[in-house]
Amino acid sequence: MCLFCKIINKEIPSNIIAENDDFLAFHDINPKAPVHILAIPKKHVDSFIEVSPQTMSSMTSFIQEITKEVGIDKTGYRVITNIGDDGGQEVKHLHFHILGGAKLKWGHFNDSDPKNNL
Ligand code: AMP
Repeated sequence: MCLFCKIINKEIPSNIIAENDDFLAFHDINPKAPVHILAIPKKHVDSFIEVSPQTMSSMTSFIQEITKEVGIDKTGYRVITNIGDDGGQEVKHLHFHILGGAKLKWGHFNDSDPKNNL
């Protein structure tokens, strides 16, 4: 069983923000911003590659609700899902990073010369 499935089953503790029948949101253990939440589907899906449009539809509403709950819906935030090896995905269970609470820089990317990002 994968790490996030264990979190869903409460076999591993997590700092839960919101939960319903289909989704779970909890604080990232290694936050990269003042607000760093992970939103995941309870049904195991490896990554965005395999997720259905139906799940994404309700996932969108879930993420929007969380941002209201933690008070970043008006100030802005970033939603990221890393996909596969090149995308830097470490946990192979679809998850959306919700980052906010500060003006975010553009990650590790160099905006001045896109070639430096390769
Ligand atoms: P990714 O690199 O996109 O796969 O992101 C995985 C994320 O899971 C990272 O930001 C980790 O800090 C986070 N993470 C790993 N283990 C835990 C855990 N037990 N509880 C909360 N977040 C975790």
